[in-house]
Amino acid sequence: MRVLVTRTLPGNALDRLRERGLEVEVHQGLFLPREELLRKVQGVVGLIPTVEDRVDAEVMDRAGPGLRVIACYSVGVDHVDLEAAKARGIRVTHTPGVLTEATADLTLALLLAVARRLVEGVEHAREGRWQAWHPELLLGLDLGGLTLGIVGMGRIGQAVAQRAQAFGMRVVYHSRTPKPLPYPHLALEALLAQADVVSLHAPLTPETHRLMNRERLFAMKPGGILLNTARGGLVDTEALVEALEGHLFGAGLDVTDPEPLPPGHPLYALKNAVITPHLGSAGRRTRERMAAMAVDNLLAVLEGQEPPNPVV
Ligand code: NAP
Repeated sequence: MRVLVTRTLPGNALDRLRERGLEVEVHQGLFLPREELLRKVQGVVGLIPTVEDRVDAEVMDRAGPGLRVIACYSVGVDHVDLEAAKARGIRVTHTPGVLTEATADLTLALLLAVARRLVEGVEHAREGRWQAWHPELLLGLDLGGLTLGIVGMGRIGQAVAQRAQAFGMRVVYHSRTPKPLPYPHLALEALLAQADVVSLHAPLTPETHRLMNRERLFAMKPGGILLNTARGGLVDTEALVEALEGHLFGAGLDVTDPEPLPPGHPLYALKNAVITPHLGSAGRRTRERMAAMAVDNLLAVLEGQEPPNPVV
C-alpha cells in the first residue's frame, strides 16, 4: 500500500508510516507540478498534500478507487474539493490547534512590522542611510489604544485577540456566530467602521472569497491597517494595491492572491506592504506536530478507525 507525501516534512513522523509497512513516496522538490502530482498519485491509498496542491476530482480519480484518505498538512482545506471527496467516500482530515499559537505570533509580528515600519527601518540602517537620530524619523502607529477588529473569531482569531490585549489594544470581532467572549460581536460593516486594524482569520469558502472587496477596503478607517494571515482569496488584491496608495496606513500579508505572489507584483513596490511567504505555521515544533497529526489521521483511516481530526 502506497502513500504519497507531496513535500519533505520536518521531524520523523513519516517513519511511523513505514513501520506499519506502508510504502511512502516523498516528493523531494520545492513544489510539485500538476502533471507530476497526477502521475505520482496513481494507486495510492493515502495522500498528504500541502496547501499548494490543488486536490480536485481529477487528482482523486487519477489516484483510483484505492484512495481512502487525504490527510492535509494544514488546518485550511480550501485546496481540497470536499464534495468530490465525499462523493467518492474519501476521508479528508486536517491539523487544527497545533498551529494556532504560531500563526497568531506571526500575525502580531506583521502588525508590529507594519505599524512601526520595521522593514523600512531595517533597510534604512542596512543601506547606510542611518546618519542621525531624528524626532521625526520613520514615525509609525502606537498600538496601545487602537481597536483591533478580528474577522473570523475561531482558534487563531482568539489567540490574536489575547496577544493584542497585551499590547493595550481594544478588541472587537465579526464571526457568523457570537461567542461567549469578553469582546463586542459586530456586523462586518460596523467592525470596519470602528477598527484601526482589521485582521482576517476566517477560512476561504465561497462565502468569504473576496470578503475584503474594494468597497470594504475603502470602508476601513483612513490610516488603518489590514492583516491577512488566513488565505489570499479573502482579499481583492488589485483593490488592496489602490487602498495602500493613499487610504490605508499599511498591510501585513502572509497570504496573497495569487500565491506565490510573482516577482515584480505591484504589492512589492509598496513600502507600506509587509509580505511574508505563507509562514504562519512555520515554527519547527509546530511543523513537526502538524506532521505527527497528519500521520495520526492517515493511519486511523487506513486502520478502519475514526480519524482524530476529520473534515469529511
Ligand atoms: P477556525 O477555528 O475554524 O476559525 C475560523 C473562524 O472563522 C470560525 O470561528 C468560523 O466560524 C469563522 N467564519 C467562518 N466563515 C465566516 C464568515 N463568512 N465570516 C466570518 N467568520 C467566519 O480556524 P483557525 O484554526 O482559526 O484557522 C483559520 C484560518 O486560518 C484557516 O482556515 C486557514 O485558512 C488560515 N491559516 C493560515 C495559516 C498561515 O500559514 N498563514 C496557518 C493556519 C491557518 P464562526 O463564523 O461560526 O465563528
